[in-house]
Amino acid sequence: MVMQAGMVIIGAGECGGRAALALRELGYDGSVTLVGDEPHLPYERPPLSKDAMISDAPEIKAIASDEMLTEKSIRHIHSVQAVGIDRAAHTVRLSDRSVLPYDKLLLATGSTPRRLPMPGLGARCVYLRTFADALAIRSHLSPGNRIAIIGGGFIGLELAAASRKLGAAVTVIEAQPRILMRGVPAEIAEVIHAAHESEGVTVLTGVGIADLADDGAKVRISFADGRSIDADLAVIGIGAVPVTGLAAEAGLTVDNGIAVDGELQTSDPDIFAAGDCCSFPLAVYGGRRVRLEAWRNAQEQGALAARNMLGADEAHAAVPWFWSDQYGLSLQIAGLSDEGKTTVRRDLGDGAFILFHLAEDGRLVSASGIGPGNAVARDIRLAEMLIARRARPAPEALGSQDVKLKSLLAA
Ligand code: FAD
Ligand code: NAP
Repeated sequence: MVMQAGMVIIGAGECGGRAALALRELGYDGSVTLVGDEPHLPYERPPLSKDAMISDAPEIKAIASDEMLTEKSIRHIHSVQAVGIDRAAHTVRLSDRSVLPYDKLLLATGSTPRRLPMPGLGARCVYLRTFADALAIRSHLSPGNRIAIIGGGFIGLELAAASRKLGAAVTVIEAQPRILMRGVPAEIAEVIHAAHESEGVTVLTGVGIADLADDGAKVRISFADGRSIDADLAVIGIGAVPVTGLAAEAGLTVDNGIAVDGELQTSDPDIFAAGDCCSFPLAVYGGRRVRLEAWRNAQEQGALAARNMLGADEAHAAVPWFWSDQYGLSLQIAGLSDEGKTTVRRDLGDGAFILFHLAEDGRLVSASGIGPGNAVARDIRLAEMLIARRARPAPEALGSQDVKLKSLLAA
């Protein structure tokens, strides 16, 4: 099959979908082809562990409708995997044996659940990444059904909250001494832990799993300390790994993700990578190489990759940000909290608070907030702007409810 060369995007997720739309918004009128191995339109994943789980009839929240893709002349090839890149010929080989030529290629292949390396996993031991995974899990969330969640990270905790809303009996098993060990300050994790316990979730921390036995009717989970529990379903949420196989086979540099520069260009100038699958130098922290697994990053990088595929040469400058909703609580984090050396707390009332993390030189590097509904959203947004400006606000001002963060921004 011979086609006109143009822009090809591999991975029709958050990042790939946004990149395709951005190419058109930027006025590009050549061919745009979006290749995805899932059978759906590009869709949002965050609802899969939240609203979609508690709905009676879960539906995909599409990023673009079929009509919109047609109207924008974006060719969406679904249910087909890209299986090889010929960099010299500038072509991508697909699993249906077709070959797509490209002028510029974007790899937006995302990440995939880290697998639990244990024998004994059967059909009742599942992961959550796709809409199909969500539907399969949803069918088990009935009153009294026993759900064991392995991993006290974001997937596990959001799913625990959704499962409780549907009346399931939930146990969360975390190997680390506390939940949300990575990237979430202990004070905030404690609030979330308490919320789960008060909603009836059993949260086990510091618990290693010795054995999993799925006999088809139930899963027996045996712990290293000799205890065991039985569950009707075990959901494993122990992190995600970047999808890099295609890039590695094509000889592109991989370093905790497909390695890109500040413009999201890989080691091949005609191939870009963005979203969960790539590692990149984060300018706001002096070029520290990171990989972000977050919704807004996937959106922003998709749009930035589109601009740079068209020759903008624009460097990534955003501050990382993500959120998590559990019960009525919303957690938001701007920046990377591990960059901080000291912490200042600001109480916002109604149990909401923000922790500001400052570097040794007094620079604000991160802010983590938790509270009911949207309580922390505005101040986290302002903190994000301060972080982007590399501001050094006085700790006393950050800690005082009487000082408006907006005034610090003006200063
Ligand atoms: P993905 O969304 O993973 O898309 C990549 C796509 O590429 C996939 O469809 C994949 O199948 C496809 N693909 C891979 N290889 C190939 C190939 N060779 N050929 C064709 N197709 C291929 N983030 C937040 O900030 N807040 C949240 O509350 C939040 N909630 C989440 C809840 C869930 C259940 C999950 C799973 C994630 C959540 N995230 C959240 C993270 C966020 O959804 C991701 O960071 C985002 O989806 C990343 O977008 P992406 O396009 O890089 O990757
Ligand atoms: P995660 O947030 O990294 O959490 C995984 C947790 O499981 C970590 O605490 C991890 O500890 C722990 N763990 C690892 N191995 C374990 C084991 N053998 N037994 C018990 N616990 C173990 O990852 P996730 O929750 O699985 O989420 C997967 C992906 O979905 C990520 O990309 C995430 O960003 C995304 N997601 C995001 C949101 C959000 O941002 N709101 C919501 C849902 C999903 P270690 O730190 O020691 O590995």
